[in-house]
Amino acid sequence: MQLANHCTSCQQPLKEIVLEGHYGQRVVADVCGNCHLVWFDAFESVRLSGLGWVGLLREMIATPRAAQTVPRQLQCVRCHGSLKAVRNLTRFGRTAALECGRGHGHYQGFALLLAERGLVRTMATRDLATLHKENTQPSCLNCGAPVDSVPTALSGQTPVCSHCETPLMLLDLPRLTQALLVRHGDVLQLEGQGQQLAVACRGCGQPLDATQDTRCDTCGHVVVMPSLDRVQPLLNQIEPILKGALPRQARPWGHKLQRMRGDASATQWHRFMGHAHDVFSSDSQRLYGKTATVVHVIAALALVFVLYLLFR
Ligand SMILES: [Zn+2]
Ligand SMILES: [Zn+2]
Ligand SMILES: [Zn+2]
Ligand SMILES: [Zn+2]
Repeated sequence: MQLANHCTSCQQPLKEIVLEGHYGQRVVADVCGNCHLVWFDAFESVRLSGLGWVGLLREMIATPRAAQTVPRQLQCVRCHGSLKAVRNLTRFGRTAALECGRGHGHYQGFALLLAERGLVRTMATRDLATLHKENTQPSCLNCGAPVDSVPTALSGQTPVCSHCETPLMLLDLPRLTQALLVRHGDVLQLEGQGQQLAVACRGCGQPLDATQDTRCDTCGHVVVMPSLDRVQPLLNQIEPILKGALPRQARPWGHKLQRMRGDASATQWHRFMGHAHDVFSSDSQRLYGKTATVVHVIAALALVFVLYLLFR
């Protein structure tokens, strides 16, 4: 049996979790609950499906708040070489991942991993007022330190946590919901299936549409998601929908084909010919574009030449 990898920050064993990737691939993440860090082997994090994200978010929620700050210098989980900070250009500026120069993978904090995927938004004074109304102590999504005030004078600058210097962030509910609604490489559509993802407004209790609402139409209360545990009810609704989503090939015939039942043009042969035609025409367009006609003329000339050689 392979020994568990150890966190190179706190030296505790990392918890290996297996998540679902696109098209049912297996994606392995190593989580340190102590440091709120996730290790992904090269490119693994981009392969997570919606269901994979649900699994990862559940793991993050189940993990108690980090007790210590993470040093800026960390070693690779696999080769113990020094990791290099790689700053990805996002609107949060500092969504840095620590990457192994030998391509083994990367370490990322929980909050910055979410920020990199655009699943968070910056905290504004309006959000602080809302949290105050909700009797919730605002905290840094990255390190959990309490936030007392957001400087408003620094126009154009993102307010940062005074403890860990990470931009103050909140989860972006519609973006997060939309990112989760992906399975087997398809974006799931909820309309017309009686499937509504609803979260209760914290102002008046009215159900809000998690895929798009950022404030309540009834009472004007803003949707503010200061911590991951607030996502739990959404995960409970979304998980069975994701699990029920079948791959494209496994889906029953669509309405269009049902309507065509009994029609001679709906026979298997006709469909095959239609498909062959589609494949041929799209291929020739892709390969030759407007020169397709020229290619056909050349082919015809070559055929005439061959016939001439045979029968002269
Ligand atoms: Zn650790
Ligand atoms: Zn390495
Ligand atoms: Zn912080
Ligand atoms: Zn409301």
